[in-house]
Amino acid sequence: MIVVMQQGAAFEEVAAVIRRVEAVGCQVYTSKDRGRTIVGVIGRNVDSLHEVVAELPGVEDVLDIGPAYRLASREYRRASSVVDVRGVAVGGERPVLIAGPCAVESHEQLLASAHAVKAAGADLLRGGAFKPRTSPYSFRGLGAEGLRILHDVGRRTGLPVVSEILSPTDIDLFLEHVDVLQIGARNMQNYNLLDEVGKAARPVLLKRGMMSTIEELLLSAEYILARGNERVILCERGIRTFETSTRHTPDIAAIPVVKQLSHLPIVFDPSHAAGARRYVPPFARAGIAAGADGILVEVHANPDEALCDGRQALAPADYVRLVGEMRAIAAAIGRPFEAAAAANAR
Ligand code: PEP
Ligand code: MN
Repeated sequence: MIVVMQQGAAFEEVAAVIRRVEAVGCQVYTSKDRGRTIVGVIGRNVDSLHEVVAELPGVEDVLDIGPAYRLASREYRRASSVVDVRGVAVGGERPVLIAGPCAVESHEQLLASAHAVKAAGADLLRGGAFKPRTSPYSFRGLGAEGLRILHDVGRRTGLPVVSEILSPTDIDLFLEHVDVLQIGARNMQNYNLLDEVGKAARPVLLKRGMMSTIEELLLSAEYILARGNERVILCERGIRTFETSTRHTPDIAAIPVVKQLSHLPIVFDPSHAAGARRYVPPFARAGIAAGADGILVEVHANPDEALCDGRQALAPADYVRLVGEMRAIAAAIGRPFEAAAAANAR
């Protein structure tokens, strides 16, 4: 941390800053630049000092060195992290395909969607059992029964499964049934939930909040990492802007920016950004082109009958076409896509 004193700050004001930071065990290095005193502060408790020091008399500015998220940063780990999900490497050379309906509606519906996405080359099956809905009158999922169906269909098709957890008290239920714990956009800053999944020995898919900055996303990831769970996969799913033509604005820029700032893998969800089926393929193609580590797409065997997010769900045939297009884009930027093709043949 660097404390910049005001021009002409009194000797006693500088001394008060030094006393305050030394009181928590930090070390101080002072220098002068064009009449200002600059106080460099290092030590374990630096973060706790920022706000209190900024308010001391004679202080002009307090600057942090390096990002507030540490474990999530590229500085902490130069090499990109690869998250293993039951043998599927997320964050490796190959972008992974995560697909499935928004919600688990019945065994039959999920099995049909799972077979369809597996045939098209999906690596992971996704389906919600506890749905966070804007209106309390919308379909909110089958709950525990939905998780049991998801688990069963995952095992039958050989696809690892992903589902959103809404409450820290459901953690044991989720650990019994799912391979990846999804934290939805609305819960990105639910710190008790982040603590809970941070203690779990299970990969976490952390979605960016619709009103959150990239730094806030990385700080939420930091909560999980700080609890000891290193298997964090980030997900960009569109942010709220002044634009209303799409449900959210896909922040494609977040993909290369996160790759610059963090070693964690980042996947892209075109479905929740689009909110309408027709925009899902072009958004997904853009995500692959921008270097996403995977694409999460909502696919429903009968989108017109879906109980949740049907307008943005792709029909199986559309998904097959999209996978072919993404394969071509991956090839154009030198990324392999074969394992998905191999899954196709399994
Ligand atoms: C979902 O993945 O179905 C979902 C509700 O997404 P988000 O949290 O990004 O809105
Ligand atoms: Mn959805």
